[in-house]
Amino acid sequence: MTRADVQELLERRERLLGPGNPLFYDDPVHLVRGEGVWLHGDDGTRYLDCYNNVPCVGHCHPRVVEALCVQAGTLNTHTRYLHENILDYAENLLAKFDDKLDRLALACTGSEANDLAMRVARVNTGANGFICTNATYHGNTTAVSQLNSIFEPIGGYGEHIRMVSWPDAYRAPYDLEGEALAEHYAAEVAAAIESLANSESGFAGMLVCPIFANEGLPGIPGGYLSKVVELVHEAGGVFIADEVQSGFGRTGKWWGYQQGGIVPDIVTLGKPMGAGHPISGVVARGELLDNYRRHEMYFNTFGGNPVSCAVAMAVIDVIDDEGLVENAAEVGRYVLQGFTELKSRYELIGDVRGSGLFFGIDLVADRESKTPAAAKAAEIVNRMRHKGVLMSKIGEHDNVLKLRPPLCFSKANADLLLERLDEVLASL
Ligand code: PMP
Repeated sequence: MTRADVQELLERRERLLGPGNPLFYDDPVHLVRGEGVWLHGDDGTRYLDCYNNVPCVGHCHPRVVEALCVQAGTLNTHTRYLHENILDYAENLLAKFDDKLDRLALACTGSEANDLAMRVARVNTGANGFICTNATYHGNTTAVSQLNSIFEPIGGYGEHIRMVSWPDAYRAPYDLEGEALAEHYAAEVAAAIESLANSESGFAGMLVCPIFANEGLPGIPGGYLSKVVELVHEAGGVFIADEVQSGFGRTGKWWGYQQGGIVPDIVTLGKPMGAGHPISGVVARGELLDNYRRHEMYFNTFGGNPVSCAVAMAVIDVIDDEGLVENAAEVGRYVLQGFTELKSRYELIGDVRGSGLFFGIDLVADRESKTPAAAKAAEIVNRMRHKGVLMSKIGEHDNVLKLRPPLCFSKANADLLLERLDEVLASL
């Protein structure tokens, strides 16, 4: 594709889809095919995908594609007819969770899953108020967008929302560490609970990503999550773990909440669940979901259809059969070592963190002040794209390089990533 062709695509996009449809990279990538950890551009360029968590088992995995095609060619209906796929899938999925989390509801997007989780919490507590963090995103429905601190919802925030600081061991307030830092952040949650409990809204629950991915994948002070869950329960609230990014083996464990040593009341799932096919879910303690269903009928036309369930089942099977959770843990450690080695040579890297195959590289103007180096993050992401490696950036200050490759990422892939990143860092 020539420059003129790219320009034409961009203009067509703007004309048909309107402005405000963001694209990655100063020089957008036009992709035509994917396989495993590789993405192919229309000009024949092969990109190492270090960004996409949705195709968790690798792009266009043959077993997932086959499951989809076979079921699509057999039957696809909504869930008001009996079908075994949804039950087989529910059995397999729920077996991955702690025993208490034993009910499943299916939807299509992470936003819908979080929306449903909020409804379940509200019905069960009779309260309306929620706590979230002050630098996050949980979805696009009217109810869920109240929890988004990255974009302000239309009409502003309601009286029923309280935002707390996300826990951050790197830029810790008052140089606190460990237990004291966990206590410091948990105290904010306690204050937010009290404030809601004393308001008309009451306190329904707290909804957070258990690894605080959108916040910048921070180092979480040990014990923070268990303290917070305890506070939420003491106040009669529901703790919801948004596993839309952290679930399905991403962190080297099946679920991100396992990193924090907690068991949530509700877990929401999305993105990697169908490896690109739109399926999402709410996994909850049985009594919560059952009680909700006694009060309100939840129907989702496409949620839980036989094709989606066949695809999602294939995803779990591949993760198991190919040992992808273990691979994420092992290759993840290898990549982290590589990033740590780069940190020893480049002052720009203030902090390196992550678990499994989810990494954040915090870039700073200098290590003393830890001033976020957002422009450098943007420059690196764009330069890496031209070196055939796709990645992005996140965080409250937009200065954290974000890497989340498909779970089949190998040590050889890691070597290529590290080599290219070294070259780009040297070229700055
Ligand atoms: N939760 C988290 C943590 C997310 O990052 C996102 C999307 N980026 C969502 C929920 C919303 O998911 P979806 O776009 O599928 O509605």
